[in-house]
Amino acid sequence: MDTKEKLDDALYTETYLGKVGELTLKGSNMHLFEKQLVCNARVALEAVDAKVHTQAGRLYVRCTKASCPGVEYALDHLLGITGWAKVRTVAKDISAIRRAVTEIALEAKGQGARSFKIEARREDKSFPLNSYAICAQAAGEVFDGGILAVDLHRPDVVVHVEVRRQCYVYSGQKKTCRGLPVGVSGKGLLLLSGGLDSPVAGWRMMRRGMKVECAYFHSYPYTSEEAQKKVEDLAAIIADYGMDTHLNIIPFTDVQMRIKQKAPEAYSTLMLRLCMMKAANLLARRIQADCIITGESLGQVASQTVENLTVTESFAEFPLFRPLLGMDKEEIVDGAREIGTYDISILPYEDCCVLFSPSHPVLKASVDEARRIYEDMDIDALVQQAFDSRRIIRYAVRDSIGKQFATKPFVSQSGMLCEGKDHAPAQGHQGSAD
Ligand code: ATP
Ligand code: MG
Repeated sequence: MDTKEKLDDALYTETYLGKVGELTLKGSNMHLFEKQLVCNARVALEAVDAKVHTQAGRLYVRCTKASCPGVEYALDHLLGITGWAKVRTVAKDISAIRRAVTEIALEAKGQGARSFKIEARREDKSFPLNSYAICAQAAGEVFDGGILAVDLHRPDVVVHVEVRRQCYVYSGQKKTCRGLPVGVSGKGLLLLSGGLDSPVAGWRMMRRGMKVECAYFHSYPYTSEEAQKKVEDLAAIIADYGMDTHLNIIPFTDVQMRIKQKAPEAYSTLMLRLCMMKAANLLARRIQADCIITGESLGQVASQTVENLTVTESFAEFPLFRPLLGMDKEEIVDGAREIGTYDISILPYEDCCVLFSPSHPVLKASVDEARRIYEDMDIDALVQQAFDSRRIIRYAVRDSIGKQFATKPFVSQSGMLCEGKDHAPAQGHQGSAD
């Protein structure tokens, strides 16, 4: 062991192991996915003292004690791993393994466990005991000393022993979101409103490895500052999973007023959707997105009948991804609870669509009729103006972790980047550890 490794060992006393799931199915491309995963973990952990590497289908994070909360937060949100555990790194001999297993069993007993089993993996075939023998010998003290009973079918605690380049012993794996590492599946533009659906839609695409940017259409004063704040908070939450995101706030009041003046009332919601799609096309082109994402779900509201979805889609100049299309509300609510957006989404601040909603919206619009009404509104210039006046706010997981858990100075890159047309991005500002 060289001096640097010795110093690292003294400093980074804690080890976490993340299990990569689907990545292992990627055959010869696996190293590209792993590379992205490691890169994402390193970026997320920039503000804490931690080191990341992968080896044989596992992600390892070594860190200082003070960095543990930040590392755990990062692993909870890191897409591409199925779960993580804090592990003990022990010497590669059976008596050290046995000691660690016994310690874990005693801790578990203290927390009420009565039974256990050991699962062993021997990746390093030069280790003299096979996995069966490791289980038998490591369990000795726990079983003989009457600490816990063996139960192979429904144990209260499973102790894992992995003999690899180093030897790890652990229990209590935390399951996380699975999926693919963000960055391996292109870029999507999410239309993010303050409701329950769209954050879940964005997260589902992130979970497939997509980088997600956001657009929100705001109609001040018809929609309040609170409604916008809600969307900002939602963007911040999904950015923790998606590495980072830019929220483009597009002022849509003039567009909405024009729709109210010019479109038949029954078509007003659908026309608003079409204007959103037009603005989304402009933004998707500007940011070089591969697709547009919405939180639409078939039959949820009048604008989401199969006919009306067809009309909206006909205005999209990019592939339109609707990951919630076949999900019911309960499934979407479960998703919102899982990712932590539920409590914000249900806050009662109104959305622009609600205020301008017709009492009898068209249910089965035709593409031709909708296009004719759209053309009659002569609204493209207003949509362009709205797009040009957008404001952009950046959210990044590295800053979120930095603000909550920093163990070293970091420069936050989040915050307002650009206000209105042609404003240069502002410099990053200093973050603090409090
Ligand atoms: P959500 O669907 O997010 O719960 P919602 O139910 O208020 O919000 P819907 O009427 O279902 O909105 O709109 C369908 C989709 O259109 C949304 O999921 C979202 O992708 C997009 N959308 C609606 N309103 C807005 C808005 N103000 N800004 C950005 N996107 C919007
Ligand atoms: Mg909805």
